[in-house]
Amino acid sequence: MGFNVNEKGYYGEFGGAFIPEMLYPNVEELRKNYLDIMSQEDFKKEFQQLLKDYVGRPSPLYFAKRLSEKYNTKVYLKREDLNHTGAHKVNNTIGQILMAKRLGKNRIIAETGAGQHGVATATVCALMGIECIVYMGEIDIARQAPNVARMKMLGAKVIPATSGSKTLKDATNEAIRDWINNPVETHYIIGSVVGPHPYPDMVARFQSVISEEMKWQLMEQEGTENPNHVIACVGGGSNAAGAFYHYLDNENVNLIAVEAAGKGIDTGESAATSVLGHEGIIHGSRTLLMQTDDGQITEPYSISAGLDYPGVGPLHAHLYKSGRAEFHSITDDEAMSAGMILSKLEGIIPAIETAHALAVLEKREFQENEIVVVNLSGRGDKDLNTYINYFKL
Ligand SMILES: *Cc1c(COP(=O)(O)O)cnc(C)c1O
Repeated sequence: MGFNVNEKGYYGEFGGAFIPEMLYPNVEELRKNYLDIMSQEDFKKEFQQLLKDYVGRPSPLYFAKRLSEKYNTKVYLKREDLNHTGAHKVNNTIGQILMAKRLGKNRIIAETGAGQHGVATATVCALMGIECIVYMGEIDIARQAPNVARMKMLGAKVIPATSGSKTLKDATNEAIRDWINNPVETHYIIGSVVGPHPYPDMVARFQSVISEEMKWQLMEQEGTENPNHVIACVGGGSNAAGAFYHYLDNENVNLIAVEAAGKGIDTGESAATSVLGHEGIIHGSRTLLMQTDDGQITEPYSISAGLDYPGVGPLHAHLYKSGRAEFHSITDDEAMSAGMILSKLEGIIPAIETAHALAVLEKREFQENEIVVVNLSGRGDKDLNTYINYFKL
């Protein structure tokens, strides 16, 4: 069984491009050109140079000694939290801004929920001197004031989405509407391995630098390219896709995907899409998503804003359905506790999204001689208020 996208844009039965006809030319232009552009030498050179000098890559693969002692296994942390802007998202936005330039686009649009992808997009637009418009739900704008301020400082225009639940899904609808109205000059930077083909594949390729580095870093430190397990949290699925990418076809490497159980998967307040979801179409792609019996998308919940997406990328739906990856759901409480453990034992305060991945170390046994890599997707600065309120610090 293959785990990469096929020619039609499918991972098994998931993926595809279910889009309104008026969006077809935009998506088709990208589909026809993305692989070609990514394989050009000058593109690769510029991408790698920016990842090195601007993002700060390679990100270290850090052997976490005290965490390893606690869990009686060999734990390595892939330090995406040390990237410029504090998470893995910038790997993708750098790639897409270079793609947009090659396609001759001079205007960027993006959607954002918690604001992290909006900030990563505004950052690369500032870097390139390109106009940037970010759609964001009105409620999210109120909840995420620091990220709105960051985007403004970076020169982006933040437009409130005032329809529906006034959150991420409505912001996405506004962004799509904008793209339909501005097909020639505008590129839409999607923030995860979601959306119509070719987005999931393109974003996974940009993020695949994570596992590419892991291979030679493990070779240096352990004398093998392959860990026994790779653990990553899953919102839309981009940091996990990057951490899994070069191991997808190597079944000796166990892939562990971690979703947010929120208050518990049976409480109606969670974002454990794979376990609770059913097949359906969201944002142009056939995948697993949380929906009512009559197909209404249900509002997800997680204490971490980056994980409360009602769907999951088609690659992950396929990894779940095929059994290639092991899926876990972690509650708010379990994640918060894991975030505290990492802070105390290693001096690293993780993003709450990332803390979900770390919580698996507490829940599941690993052998003493096994190599376990946790993808540390982001740092916890942005979550300090949530930590303060939760732990009454
Ligand atoms: C956005 C975000 C996530 C979730 O997005 P994915 O596409 O699933 O990676 C996870 N961790 C951090 C730190 C994030 O900012």
